[in-house]
Amino acid sequence: FIIPEFQDFCKDIEEIYWKCKDNSNGKVASYIPQLKRMSPNYWGVSVCTIDGQRFSLGDVSIPFTIQSCNKPLTYGIALDLLGSEVVHSYVGQEPSGRNFNELILDHNKKPHNPMINAGAIMVCALLKTVAGPEMSLAEKFDFTMNYFERLAGNEDLGFNNAVFLSERECADRNYALGFYMREHKCFPENCKLKECLDFYFQCCSLETSCDQLAVMGSTLANGGICPLSEEKVLKPESVRDVLSLMHSCGMYDYSGQFAFKVGVPAKSGVSGGMLVVIPNVMGICLWSPPLDALGNSCRGVQFCEELIKKFNFHRYDNL
Ligand code: GLN
Repeated sequence: FIIPEFQDFCKDIEEIYWKCKDNSNGKVASYIPQLKRMSPNYWGVSVCTIDGQRFSLGDVSIPFTIQSCNKPLTYGIALDLLGSEVVHSYVGQEPSGRNFNELILDHNKKPHNPMINAGAIMVCALLKTVAGPEMSLAEKFDFTMNYFERLAGNEDLGFNNAVFLSERECADRNYALGFYMREHKCFPENCKLKECLDFYFQCCSLETSCDQLAVMGSTLANGGICPLSEEKVLKPESVRDVLSLMHSCGMYDYSGQFAFKVGVPAKSGVSGGMLVVIPNVMGICLWSPPLDALGNSCRGVQFCEELIKKFNFHRYDNL
């Protein structure tokens, strides 16, 4: 086993879980009206190792929308289909140093990276326009959903139509990002902006759970092979790129501090989910809706910081 004393490890996880449960900081996101209906008390932790050992605690099977935790995964799919060179001729690899939905492009007039909204909208445009121009919106959605399900070990994922409609209704900023990028000719030819944004909102509204997201994380930790189904879902070179950008850009404007303090690739989303990858060891999902001022789950971030005090998972712990 990759974690030989798994029972002991679970005890430590449990201790950290209870410690973080007391954390009542943060606010549930409200800019997408449907999201603020989530209870601030939800708190779940799930672990799945690359050899399939699993442990979960708390609210691990309650469905929530994946939101920005889809970004590394859709980026991975685009890399697999198009290769790094094509993808990165449209989107950069640099942390933006700004909010996730800031109206800003890098000095090449490209979105900074695929982990923030502008970059993720671009990745959706690539999936739609370059990777499958012949596919209808419906086919493209099914195709992408199927990828996510295979990342999760063939689990059925849901789709939250209320969140989708709610987000689309209040998406002035994402539309603004779209128009701004169109003004600067960022998009591939034949890209229909409205369809592309719809597709982006749909990817954000996929419904998953802590348990399922931990399995998706373990697929990344395992170089693209799902530990449960043993299916090769993504190429290792795609996963390498995904983890690199999660490491440097995954936690919004806290990414630099997170990489310094915690030192593992992670991606957070506005529904309070956090996808954490310990490469070659395991995937972890943390879920708790209250967010800090930068948009990361308060309990999720605390959990990671505690985890790294206890275990040497930091990228540079083993020197
Ligand atoms: N759907 C959200 C948006 O585009 C995703 C952002 C997030 O999770 N940070 O605004």
